[in-house]
Amino acid sequence: MKNTKLIVGLTGGIGSGKSEACRLFAARGIVIVDADNIARDVVLPGSTALHGISLHFGEEILTTSGELDRRKLRDIIFSNPHEKKWLENLLHPIINLEIRNKLANAESPYVILASPLLLETRQFELTDRILVIDASEQLQIERASTRDRNDTAQIKAIMNTQLSRQDRCAKADDIIQNHGNLDELDEQIEKLHQRYLEMNS
Ligand code: ADP
Repeated sequence: MKNTKLIVGLTGGIGSGKSEACRLFAARGIVIVDADNIARDVVLPGSTALHGISLHFGEEILTTSGELDRRKLRDIIFSNPHEKKWLENLLHPIINLEIRNKLANAESPYVILASPLLLETRQFELTDRILVIDASEQLQIERASTRDRNDTAQIKAIMNTQLSRQDRCAKADDIIQNHGNLDELDEQIEKLHQRYLEMNS
């Protein structure tokens, strides 16, 4: 039987409240497929992807315990667009396959694909609707810096690699304005949850 379950893509800039929103959907029994977790899992020691990466960049891309040295990899691809492209060509199909599997096996009335890069990659093509968690840039910086103890410059640098707030919201079917407290976020999630349940029935 064809899987016709509604797939909602959830995205937002750093510190916008994606993780909080996912937690609130998960509390309602909704399966969250987390693209960041999958991206980490596909390069675990023993994986084909990690083997490919170490063949390409050399063993020095691994830590002494055989894990991917993410900082080193980030430094390489930050200054070299060709290497960045090479890495994306290797990882994106593997990540997408795993996302597809997880979405297909999800056992909840609808399913959420959470990804900070949903719209920057082609992951949005796997979804039926796009939900953007939106917050002002000021709030994003405040929340992310409190959470990660990162300085403002680092957070702004990450924000610069992501779509602008305006471009992201322009692509949304649904937008949650996360400018209030957590109770207000919860109220908005509940409303959307009910709508998604209805859409799926
Ligand atoms: P993202 O996953 O989009 O980077 P998070 O969900 O981790 O963002 O939110 C960033 C920080 O802000 C977290 O510490 C989170 O608990 C907090 N936060 C998110 N939304 C709210 C809110 N409405 N009220 C108070 N704190 C919030």
